[in-house]
Amino acid sequence: MTRIAVVDNSKLKDMDKKKHIQSLCPVNRSGSECIKLGDSKLSIDESLCIGCGICVNAAPDSIKIINLPESLTKDPIHRYGENQFSLYNLPTPIFGKVTGILGVNGIGKTTAINILAGVLNPNLGDWEKEADHKQLIEFFKGTEAQLFFEKVEKGDIKVSYKPQNVDMIPKTSKGKVRTLLEKVDEKKELEKISKELEIEKILDNDIKNISGGELQRVAIAATILKKANVYIFDEPTSYLDIKQRIKVSKFIRNMVNNETAVLVVEHDLIILDYMTDLVYIMYGKESGFGVVSQPKSTKTAINVYLSGYLKEENVRFRDHEIKFEVRPPTSLKKQHLLTTWHDIKKKLGNFNLEADKGELHKNEVIGVLGENGIGKTSFVKILAGVLKQDKGKIETKIVVSYKPQYLETSNELVMNILKEAVKNYETQIIRPLNIKPLLLKKITQLSGGELQRVSIALCLSKEADLYLIDEPSAYLDAEQRLIVSKIIRGFIEEKNKTALIVDHDLLFMDYLSEKLIVFDGESAVNGVVNNPLDMEKGMNKFLNTLQITFRRDEESKRPRANKLDSQMDKKQKSENKLYYT
Ligand code: SF4
Repeated sequence: MTRIAVVDNSKLKDMDKKKHIQSLCPVNRSGSECIKLGDSKLSIDESLCIGCGICVNAAPDSIKIINLPESLTKDPIHRYGENQFSLYNLPTPIFGKVTGILGVNGIGKTTAINILAGVLNPNLGDWEKEADHKQLIEFFKGTEAQLFFEKVEKGDIKVSYKPQNVDMIPKTSKGKVRTLLEKVDEKKELEKISKELEIEKILDNDIKNISGGELQRVAIAATILKKANVYIFDEPTSYLDIKQRIKVSKFIRNMVNNETAVLVVEHDLIILDYMTDLVYIMYGKESGFGVVSQPKSTKTAINVYLSGYLKEENVRFRDHEIKFEVRPPTSLKKQHLLTTWHDIKKKLGNFNLEADKGELHKNEVIGVLGENGIGKTSFVKILAGVLKQDKGKIETKIVVSYKPQYLETSNELVMNILKEAVKNYETQIIRPLNIKPLLLKKITQLSGGELQRVSIALCLSKEADLYLIDEPSAYLDAEQRLIVSKIIRGFIEEKNKTALIVDHDLLFMDYLSEKLIVFDGESAVNGVVNNPLDMEKGMNKFLNTLQITFRRDEESKRPRANKLDSQMDKKQKSENKLYYT
């Protein structure tokens, strides 16, 4: 097959419109039935379609005609139905290794994981019949996947799986964290694992009262406590701060041995790099088809991913390369003062926040780094005037546009909320954030990633001096994170404004920020806000608290975390240059 058709009949309700689309098809006009209308459903015969695109122009929201890469010679491993999403190939867990999966959202990562976890039975492209084990083994003959499915057939594989969406856990599981974890503790290691993942203090809390970061670690603990030999973690670091991300990465790395394999989907590229030995790249067309590449060493895979071109397969999956630049020091830029603060103090229950003095300038993007519970969001709210400080002063009244960390949903249409953005920022915001397909949806109907994009667009489209953007990378895939960085930087430069970005993805922050505000203190006890520093000093200060070092990859120039106690790690620590320059 050279092309596939994807039809969303839920968006094609009008029968007259369907008949009209059918009447336009040149293949139908010449007497063959390429577009069929049966049971009021429109379907396309892919073997007859000539790919002219006329039907797509007539119903762009409902029909996709996609040319498949020439290198794709095999049938899909799974297809959801006629004119529905197809997945080609599978990533295979390898014993003794942590294997990563990297790809944009909607490309079939969860489908692949569900097949490996035994939650979804694949059909080898024939959506009317599930494949049996024999067919699967035959399909994967001569590959790692063949060995995997042979073990599955013999009952030698037991999978434990942490799903992506931990927010759903309190909706399906009720009660104390301890009781819930005891139920799955087949290894009888609850005390040990809780200590390692630092959740001992919340074991007696109700699951509905714990934070996103705690929920994530409880979900990881529940996965690890089950006796299994293949562990799958779908986005194990969302909601975690960088300290916790590194801790969880080390923990997951240490799980593998000759009898255990780990598979991880992760969008934080620094963490993916730190945690995995091998990576499968997934590419294709969102909601159309997904292809799993051959596995590559992690370093190569991330560089290939950034380059947008798979050499062996001869597939270009992005029309541009993502490049990291060595930026000129900000001191060379002309700095116009925006605002200053001094002697800010705020007490929130038992937590104390202090900000001695600091200043913000026009035309700069400042990253805000610090662990969870150290007052980043509270400081941002004080600057935004959402929260009033007990003492101290903020000079120069400024107008602030604020995107909160936790996004509120409502029944409003996206179109109504983003009226200004659509009117004024079509090229700077709406198009690059791919908001158009979302305009007719209600906010409640959006996925986490879609809601994040809408919230960023809304924040940037408001008239303000300072844009405070709290955790914009949450729910976005690696590619969307880099697109968002570009949009924010471009917008701030063009409008001569200022942005403060709070986030835990260090590659995203490196790509986006010119300066850093680093928080000191102790989680839930006190937080101290330091004056903005240039990237080198700020990162050096921050990495010192984590005791990790970063180098720059020679090829892509992206930041990479050095392995602990490696030659580079020791050298950079001895020179007190923890951040590459
Ligand atoms: Fe017909 Fe295919 Fe052209 Fe659509 S793309 S009008 S189905 S030939």
